[in-house]
Amino acid sequence: RVKSEGGGTYRFYESFMGADVRERRLIEHDLRLAVARSEIEVAYQPQAETGTGRITGFEALLRWRHPERGYVSPSTFIPIAEESGIIMNLGEWVLREACREAASWSQPLSVAVNVSAMQIHAAGFPATLQAALRDTGLSAGRLEIEITETALIRDPARALTTLHAIKELGVRIAMDDFGTGYSSLSNLRAFPFDRIKIDRSFIKSIDKDEQTAAIVRAVLSLGRGLKLLVTAEGVETDAELAFLQAEACHEVQGFLVARPAPIWTFAAVTHGHAASQKATAA
Ligand code: C2E
Ligand code: MG
Ligand code: MG
Ligand code: MG
Repeated sequence: RVKSEGGGTYRFYESFMGADVRERRLIEHDLRLAVARSEIEVAYQPQAETGTGRITGFEALLRWRHPERGYVSPSTFIPIAEESGIIMNLGEWVLREACREAASWSQPLSVAVNVSAMQIHAAGFPATLQAALRDTGLSAGRLEIEITETALIRDPARALTTLHAIKELGVRIAMDDFGTGYSSLSNLRAFPFDRIKIDRSFIKSIDKDEQTAAIVRAVLSLGRGLKLLVTAEGVETDAELAFLQAEACHEVQGFLVARPAPIWTFAAVTHGHAASQKATAA
């Protein structure tokens, strides 16, 4: 009896996994066609100076509007794109799209693009960046790429060479989701980062939880010591912003400033007098 129950449980588990795999294959199939079918768009989220609210740039975030499934979250389709290799094409598409968009602004704001491990480790990634800049006319100093520490661990020596080549171009590099995954302080020293983005899981409770506050203060102090810019991700409340202002965090990003949205909603910033745009505008 015990044995048959065990077998039943196993079969149930197996078919459950089977459904999950089929589901992923369906999404993968549709994702391969999504760009050509114009289902993929780029949303932009402003990044603002903590002290003044001045918007310094935007992060490009992929959005997929599936004809039957509706909105599919990047946390669902990015991992599938990464495992299937689709991220190579998708990543280059969003890079070019973001550079083309930023080059069209009348204000010299920066644009940040997320880059996956497979892209970083591919031969010729710096050349891909260079071609995107050349073809769109965007100056290198206005482009920033965001990578997670996890993206570097596959082959740290190779990643280091690539990041130095990217720096040579004049493109800035941000460490995304800092504090999650394989955070190691030696990565901050070994790799030529310009910026640390503190993961939003730490920002959520900075004004309530003393331990989280202590960690964020320590990261800010680390940033100052290493001469790195620090951005707080996922700032949602005035209390969180007040904490970050008091602790002299350089930049903030989050729903309090603005949610990611089509770029035209920020036309006053991208085409107006950026210096007078305050974070409170959105
Ligand atoms: P990420 O790069 O850390 O981007 C920040 C995520 O936090 C975005 O989620 C953004 O919408 C969300 N966010 C921003 N402010 C707030 C806030 O105040 N509260 C909350 N709760 N969330 C906030 P999104 O757009 O769903 O993207 C999720 C992740 O998918 C990104 O995390 C990034 O890792 C990945 N991703 C998105 N676009 C791309 C892309 O073009 N290429 C690659 N490789 N990954 C991408
Ligand atoms: Mg990011
Ligand atoms: Mg992040
Ligand atoms: Mg993330």
